[in-house]
Amino acid sequence: MHKKSKAAYQKALRYLPGGVNSPVRSLRAVDHHPVFMQKARGPYIYDLDNNKYLDLCLSWGVHILGHNHPAVIKAVRDALKQGTSYGAATEKETELAEMIVKAVPSIEKIRFVSSGTEATMSALKLARAYTGRKTILKFSGCYHGHAEIPDVIEVPYNDSKAVAAIFAKNKHKIAAVIVEPVAGNMGVVLPEPGFLKYLRRVTKENRTVLIFDEVITGFRLAYGGAQELFGIKPDLTCLGKIIGGGFPVGAYGGQAEIMDLLAPLGPVYQAGTLSGNPVAMSAGIAVLKILKGKNFYHKLNIRAAWTINELRRHTGRRKVVVNALGSMFTIFFTDKPVHNYTDAQASDPKSFAEFYKKMLRAGIYLSPAQLEANFIPSGRS
Ligand code: PLP
Repeated sequence: MHKKSKAAYQKALRYLPGGVNSPVRSLRAVDHHPVFMQKARGPYIYDLDNNKYLDLCLSWGVHILGHNHPAVIKAVRDALKQGTSYGAATEKETELAEMIVKAVPSIEKIRFVSSGTEATMSALKLARAYTGRKTILKFSGCYHGHAEIPDVIEVPYNDSKAVAAIFAKNKHKIAAVIVEPVAGNMGVVLPEPGFLKYLRRVTKENRTVLIFDEVITGFRLAYGGAQELFGIKPDLTCLGKIIGGGFPVGAYGGQAEIMDLLAPLGPVYQAGTLSGNPVAMSAGIAVLKILKGKNFYHKLNIRAAWTINELRRHTGRRKVVVNALGSMFTIFFTDKPVHNYTDAQASDPKSFAEFYKKMLRAGIYLSPAQLEANFIPSGRS
């Protein structure tokens, strides 16, 4: 089934560490070799051996419209004809910025970068400059890119009491609380009622910057992201994935008072050769125009609920917990509810690996690790 993939992997091992450019692509977590892909269209992706899969990884949540949406491809083609990068200002950046500012409740100004990692890294730097403090509070199991975060305190997700204790002990020291408002990187874990509200309250009381890392949830859960869904406005928001339409993009934005500390207006230096790249901006604009359409999320979520239910039936007699919100979900191989990283880690990686390989043979490409999110794409309308 994977003859060409196996050969491609052997060759890749000679030149790329582990044969891949991002660790989870190795499929080690499911005791498999990497599956090399060659093309994709709509909800389907095809490997080198021409096996066709229903893609429920979707480039880790990037392709909310499925692959190669005609409107996105057209926008990219048109942009390419004008050149691929100028390293100078373009109107496309303002156009996408305006769309995002109008969509996401808390964003007044935004800065584009080239990845989610760059977005979170820069947002943290900005929060530190704004508050004149160093310490960052984050939650175990939340992922905010691969950059090292120094001076970090970690507490369990959904644990407001632990957060309160840290604030009590560290008066006027915490620069920022960074959180995935719906976690996707320990598998999907939902915020318990009141958790995000508490984070908003305690950060306000302590003049700490609240950062929502919406690299996954932005434009995924609603047009205004998780913050629209839960009705909570953070001070800064990180975005990525969907807003680049399949091209390398990240962004961070928030209150103008904070964002205006960035150079050239203020002292916080952050720059990027390909930031606001015109091809990526064009793809993002094309995607957002479709997401803005009437009932887009309502239809997507109905489709998602149906697909998730079908998939659950294939887990057989094993005990599983399905955490889902809208079009993102994880099937945990455990019989206890999953509210935080410790709960998530209780799921059985062997049972998941078995299920994963069975699904792969059946033509379904899930995100290749137990503690990851899967995604459902919209239909074409
Ligand atoms: N933040 C979250 C919540 C993510 O899920 C990711 C990546 O999956 C990142 C940040 C980092 O984004 P990137 O992989 O584009 O650097």
